[in-house]
Amino acid sequence: MALLQISEPGQSPQPHQRRHAVGIDLGTTNSLVATVRSGMAEVLADEQGRDLLPSVVHYVTEGVSCVGYEAAEHNVADPLNTLASVKRLMGRGVADIKTFGSQLPYEFAADDGGMPKIKTTAGLVSPIQVSAEILRKLAGRAEIAFDSELDGAVITVPAYFDEAQRQATKDAATLAGIKVLRLLNEPTAAAIAYGLDESERETKGQERTIAIYDLGGGTFDISILRLSKGVFEVLATGGDSALGGDDFDLAIADWLRQQMGMSEDLNPIEQRILLETAKSAKEELTDSTQVELEVLDWQGTLTRELMHSLIDGLIAKTVRACKKSLRDAGVAQTQIDDVILVGGSTRTPRVGDKVAELFDLEPLCSLDPDQVVAMGAALQAEVLVGNKSGDDMLLLDVIPLSLGIETMGGLIEKIIHRNTTIPVAKAQEFTTFKDGQTAMAIHILQGERELASDCRSLARFELRGIPPMVAGAAKIRVSYQVDADGLLSVTARELTSNVESRIEVKPSYGLGEEEITSMLQDSFSHARDDMQARALREQQVEADRMIEDLLAAIYKDGDALLDSEERQCLKVAIQELRDLRETTSEHRVLARQIESVAKASEEFAARRMDVSIKTALAGQTLDEIEKG
Ligand code: ADP
Ligand code: MG
Repeated sequence: MALLQISEPGQSPQPHQRRHAVGIDLGTTNSLVATVRSGMAEVLADEQGRDLLPSVVHYVTEGVSCVGYEAAEHNVADPLNTLASVKRLMGRGVADIKTFGSQLPYEFAADDGGMPKIKTTAGLVSPIQVSAEILRKLAGRAEIAFDSELDGAVITVPAYFDEAQRQATKDAATLAGIKVLRLLNEPTAAAIAYGLDESERETKGQERTIAIYDLGGGTFDISILRLSKGVFEVLATGGDSALGGDDFDLAIADWLRQQMGMSEDLNPIEQRILLETAKSAKEELTDSTQVELEVLDWQGTLTRELMHSLIDGLIAKTVRACKKSLRDAGVAQTQIDDVILVGGSTRTPRVGDKVAELFDLEPLCSLDPDQVVAMGAALQAEVLVGNKSGDDMLLLDVIPLSLGIETMGGLIEKIIHRNTTIPVAKAQEFTTFKDGQTAMAIHILQGERELASDCRSLARFELRGIPPMVAGAAKIRVSYQVDADGLLSVTARELTSNVESRIEVKPSYGLGEEEITSMLQDSFSHARDDMQARALREQQVEADRMIEDLLAAIYKDGDALLDSEERQCLKVAIQELRDLRETTSEHRVLARQIESVAKASEEFAARRMDVSIKTALAGQTLDEIEKG
């Protein structure tokens, strides 16, 4: 009789029952795919043994001609059909593209209200389609390695990606036929790759605060994470979307130009030569203390010290961004337990030194900074696909900008605040503004400012069928739910009648990192203005309500309850309030006027109250009143 096999808890009973999962780092410049073998994360290389896949797709008349290194080769000869850096376009609208599209060499189709489309010889192509090609190529690489179909993937996104950008990434995966197990924030993936979750477990759940410093070719991201009881929480994110190794190259190239006695306006070829020389010099100085340079007919030496003087200002900028994120996260430099270096530019030793100095800690850099993110994603995919028990690896991320709802007067009421960890569900009750109001418009916004017009509009929908009631009697509960991938759905329900309306927020465009950064900056620099504006709007809403109520009351009961002089007085007071509401920018002035109108109409209100009590009592016998 065969013995029954019992596997260890959390382990698949047989190796061939293992499921095939990967982690994908879908990058701006380069993408990678990794998987877990014998418990270790490893990057899957292509047939030529190359780990990276340039995030580039080349189109010909019939459609996609190639993806990756091959595609990148068409860059010079056929730039309009060689699509690169589309990550910057994911989840963006045509209006967004106008503001930074000039950096990209593509032609865009006319605005059709949806996502931007790039004109290619194969027709119009959306950023989602381009990303799908890259994902498909990486999935294909994995399927060859597994000799089997893929069961699912964890795809990483920048921590600052908003709803629309996450949704666009998910859509790209769906288009590529990949099952998304989870979208994972890049810094969280890096922390997992270094096994910080494991070490936390070993230290019996002692809380750790981790900084992830990611300096790539064109972008800098800093993230502060907290790891507590096996749960990762993103405390804050920040950085600079236009700062990276390319800027080091520019600084060195400019120094070269001066040494060579060349003027500032170089032709594109000279520019290229100087930049390439600068880049290889910089990379060589990672391992040596000086390099000999030969450019055109010029010869010279660049020492590490000299390079430091050229790039220190740029590194200082990243240090300032780190300090700001620490402030946002509410942690002191000294409270950081681990610092992780990610991105090719962190290979420059000076960068690591400055980071070490800032945090007074030796940064973790034993893993290849290019591979860290994909490796962490692979480890997480292994858990989510069910190959490994992972009850203690629940991941939490944060909302990059507050989610709110527009209220009367064009104000925003924040329902889920910035940096709240997800998944999260929060609800708030609202009421109707007018008597007999049967519908309510729900306008969902994202941003930090006080006025709706200064925030990003995500979606609108209507709750209909509210039973007619007096203003303020209906109870409408609006619930915001953000799932583990950061995707939002909103429900509005009238509590007495239970009518309900719901929307999945799937905007055709989203916010960019720069926009998020500038919206945050605006909210700090406008904090005072905004408070004034909010207070003024509140008083304006109050004034409107008072004018409307009073006019209705005069219309109804004025003849019976007011003599002509009283009536005239009230009308003058109302007119003054109306004028002031239009002209004053001082909320206190308006508040005083509202108060004086309230005083002036007190007597009228009292008489109306008397009448309504009398009317209510009329028709009842004395007996009934006494019993009542
Ligand atoms: P991205 O995240 O923007 O795709 P990467 O993380 O791949 O960028 O980093 C690319 C940058 O890393 C380039 O500026 C490149 O010059 C720089 N880099 C690569 N290798 C080295 C090295 N050995 N020393 C210093 N910088 C390097
Ligand atoms: Mg990168």
